[in-house]
Parts: sequence; structure tokens; C-alpha cells
Amino acid sequence: MSWLSEGLERLESKGLLRQRRLLGSAQGALIEIDGKGLLSFASNDYLGLAHHSKLREAAIEGIDLWGVGAGSSHLICGHHRAHQAFEDAAAKFVGLPRALVFSTGYMANIGVVTALVGRGDAVFADRLNHASLNDAALLSRADFERYPHRNLDVLQRLLSGSNARRKLVASDSVFSMDGDIADVPALVELCEHHGALLLIDDAHGFGVLGAAGRGALSHFGVASERVIYLATLGKAAGVFGAFVAAQNDVIERLVQRARTYIYTTAAPPLLSHALLQSLDVIRSEEWRRVRLTGLIRQLRATLRLRKWRLLPSQTPVQPVVIGESSEASHASDSLLAAGILVPAIRPPTVPTGQARLRISISAAHSDEHIDRLVAALHSLA
Ligand code: PMP
Repeated sequence: MSWLSEGLERLESKGLLRQRRLLGSAQGALIEIDGKGLLSFASNDYLGLAHHSKLREAAIEGIDLWGVGAGSSHLICGHHRAHQAFEDAAAKFVGLPRALVFSTGYMANIGVVTALVGRGDAVFADRLNHASLNDAALLSRADFERYPHRNLDVLQRLLSGSNARRKLVASDSVFSMDGDIADVPALVELCEHHGALLLIDDAHGFGVLGAAGRGALSHFGVASERVIYLATLGKAAGVFGAFVAAQNDVIERLVQRARTYIYTTAAPPLLSHALLQSLDVIRSEEWRRVRLTGLIRQLRATLRLRKWRLLPSQTPVQPVVIGESSEASHASDSLLAAGILVPAIRPPTVPTGQARLRISISAAHSDEHIDRLVAALHSLA
């Protein structure tokens, strides 16, 4: 058994040992961790909905209506009216014919890719895509080609040179550790030209980008039969889960073939019930997106760093690249000592030498919160 402790010691000596923090409060700008009050820039609760009164009330109503457990997988007898109502509303919200709920974004990516491609097919993926898309491609047994981040010239060459039976291009919309946005219209054009499907993972764009928070497709005004749209629901939507929206045949294929949809218990219908309310709040509380944009501008206008680098992001994900893992951890620890939680993101989540602080901004923050963060970063840097 010694390889286990040796492996852990190696991680620790490289400053790569991860630790969980014990949260003693709901998500919000101000949270309690290990009994200590902190200003948090760590969650993906971009709109501040995780503790919204309307969502909490809807969850309780959902329990009264449906109980706490779905009791079965969707295809046996776990597909409740609440799931269906959310699927219908989600499809309409993002402007696609049909949607399907998955228990998590991770499972949705695995399910979609493995249901659509296999041996003899090919997946083309941005190098900075989320781990779940990479795992999905590996699991599918299709050829797996990764192109340099946002380099569509290379993607074009790979697509031209491929004689795979089916081609699937997969990309995050907003890259989770960099905050920049994929050129979705150019991806759509390439996929149409080369007869490929396009999977857009809008985990960090749904609720934030586009008219009324409809996400990346609305943000760019693109529509194509070839697009398979995926949104996660534990970030801006404030709850849990994911949905995939696409043409009817694509969704029906997922119902028949996506193993992470078929061989798992349906998520509690109370979540879908709360998510219906979340859609309503996302759509109607425009001030949350307005505030978010204002706070992002404020951070970018006031943060001045010399040695460290604030990446060029217009989204709530604002990364400060530091470099060495130990230095990023040290910066995160120092902020913590000043009462501010900003996680250090280290390899393998990001490339070696690009460890960073990942600042995540939420509509739950105030101008003063951003001022406090900027002052702390200035004194630290
Ligand atoms: N895709 C991206 C781009 C993500 O950032 C995440 C979550 N970190 C996921 C998928 C997985 O979603 P979930 O947390 O719902 O499993």
C-alpha cells in the first residue's frame, strides 16, 4: 500500500495536494468556512441564485409535490412531470426544438459524446476544454484530436484531413479557467462546411451571456441544425444538473443511447421544479446581469498588476495567472488570511507553469467587495 502514501507525499511536496474547505453557510458573497466569515470569489453562483428566496420556496413546493427522490431512472418510471416541464421550458428558452435533463454536466458530456460517436469516428476538441469533454472523447473510442486553444486554422486542417465516418467538434463556450469565449459562429461555419456536429458546452455562459441570459447561442445570434447545446444548472442557474438541447433526432438518440441518461436514477424532480423558477428569475431579473457586467468592469478598471497577469476576459471568470503552483497557493493563503477566498487553480486543471488565482464574480457582490479584493491583491502583489 506504500505507493498510496508516497503518491500523496509527492503531491504535497509539489504544492499540489488539494484540500476541501468546510462550508458552514449557503453560497453568497459572504460565507462561513471552518467557522470563519469570508468574502468569497470562489463559487460559480454567478447570478447569486443559489440562496434566492423564490428558488428556495420552489424547492420546498417541489418536495411537497414530488417528495425527495425520483425513485427510478427516466426510462423505467422516474421521469416526472416536473422534469418534462423543465425540459420544455429550457428548449424554448434557448430556442431549440427539444431538451433533455441530465443529473450533472459531467454526465451530460459523457452521455452526449459516447451516444453520438464511436470507433471509426473522430472528436475534435479545444485543448482547454473541460475535463468532462476530454473524458467523454476518450470513453467514446473515437479518434481524439485536440487543437490549440481557439486555433481554428488548425481545426480546419484537422477537419479537412479527416476521413472519419462521423465528426464531432466539441468546445466550451466560456472556458472555465480562462474566462475567454470561443468563436462559436466560426465553429458553426466550419462544422457546416465539413459535415460535423458541434457540441457547445455553455456551462459558464448559460444565464450570463445572451439576451435574458439565454446563453452563448443567443449571445452570438447563431442557429444551426448541427449544434448540440449543453448547459449546466449548478452555476448561474443556482441549482444542480444540466440539460442538452438540440434537434429532435439528436435528443431521441440520447434517450435511446446515452448511458449516463439511461443507467442512472433520475435527479429529484424537486430540482426541476426549482429550476423552472430559476429560468423565470434568470429571464426577469435583468439587473443581475447588469450588476455583474458593472462589477467585472470595475475589477478590470482598477486592478493593476505588474508581475502577475489578469487574463483578457469579459466574463465572470477573471483569472490572475501567477505561474508556479507554490506561489499561487501562497497568494491564495495570504488572501485567506485577509478574509478573502480566491482559489488557487493548479496543474493538472491548468497547464504547468500557469497556476493562477481564479476570481469568480457574482451579482451577489457589491462595489465595496470588489474594492476590498483589489486592495488586497495590490498589497499582496
Ligand atoms: N463543463 C464545464 C465547462 C464545466 O466547467 C463544468 C463544471 N465545472 C462541467 C461541464 C460539469 O458540470 P457539473 O458540475 O454539472 O458536473
